Amino acid sequence: RAKQLGRKRYELFDERLAQNVVDVLALEGELRQALAQGLFEPYFQPICALDGSGRTLGYEALIRWNHPQRGLLRPGDFLRIAEDSGLIETIDWHMFELSCRLLLQHGRDDSFMTVNVSALHLRHAHFDRRLVQLLERTGLPPQRLVLEVTEGALLDNPEHVRATLERLRAIGIGAALDDFGTGYSSLSYLHSLPLRILKIDRAFVQELDKDANTSSTTVVAAILALARALSIQVIAEGIETPSQRDALMAMGCEMGQGYLLGRPAPIAQWRAPGSVGA
Ligand code: C2E
Ligand code: MG
Ligand code: MG
Ligand code: MG
Repeated sequence: RAKQLGRKRYELFDERLAQNVVDVLALEGELRQALAQGLFEPYFQPICALDGSGRTLGYEALIRWNHPQRGLLRPGDFLRIAEDSGLIETIDWHMFELSCRLLLQHGRDDSFMTVNVSALHLRHAHFDRRLVQLLERTGLPPQRLVLEVTEGALLDNPEHVRATLERLRAIGIGAALDDFGTGYSSLSYLHSLPLRILKIDRAFVQELDKDANTSSTTVVAAILALARALSIQVIAEGIETPSQRDALMAMGCEMGQGYLLGRPAPIAQWRAPGSVGA
């Protein structure tokens, strides 16, 4: 009986099943409540040097929802509804603040952190001012922060986004283009954007160890050449096997991220060597 009820709750929270208004409103209500109760938590996934040292250079902060009944929820379970309802903005600011504090508390002084920024934020006129205030409040040096944006976010209003990222760069905050290669892939905007980092989507990385002659190898090599020409750093996402890592190293990719190198986990766990995340 309890299990059945649990199952029903589960379905209520599955955004793919939350198709009617009642379900969506219920999830929105739960999101609000979770925010008030402090149930969102950033997990940190290490971003490592692909130079043989395996050294952790920084982390990507990824949101998790410690749901009292369902356990740890990933963004795929709730992000769409958080975005559609506009709640994502409050949730993200809460996450940014927590992430800054946690990095300061647990990260090496020279480590950086990337945070995922929903396209909605970049539409706001005062996003950059608010971010600067957050850094002042928490004490995190701007050089240690990188914003991850997706190609979709850029399409919205490229000129406005470019101007915002430009202002942020002027004060030391970096920008990364997330999931590169999966979106609209208009190469024309790349050189005009003030990007510090390109993140190669894991769809390409996961094809790498199948056969050295896959089209993914060609695509990754081309992205690396492009990034080099534009003086942009590269992070390969979703590295799961040693051969994927080795192929990327052989191609000269400087940084990587993925389950092989470390799963997302509470940052305090990264102090203990050899620990694994969730
Ligand atoms: P993303 O930014 O592309 O993040 C990478 C996703 O891949 C993460 O999923 C991460 O856990 C997962 N991942 C990392 N390494 C591997 C691997 O080796 N193999 C596989 N299969 N997956 C790997 P996650 O944490 O579920 O996040 C999904 C997406 O949700 C993120 O994609 C990002 O777009 C969004 N997101 C995460 N946190 C936040 C947040 O605080 N705010 C906003 N607005 N969006 C967020
Ligand atoms: Mg990301
Ligand atoms: Mg990504
Ligand atoms: Mg992604």
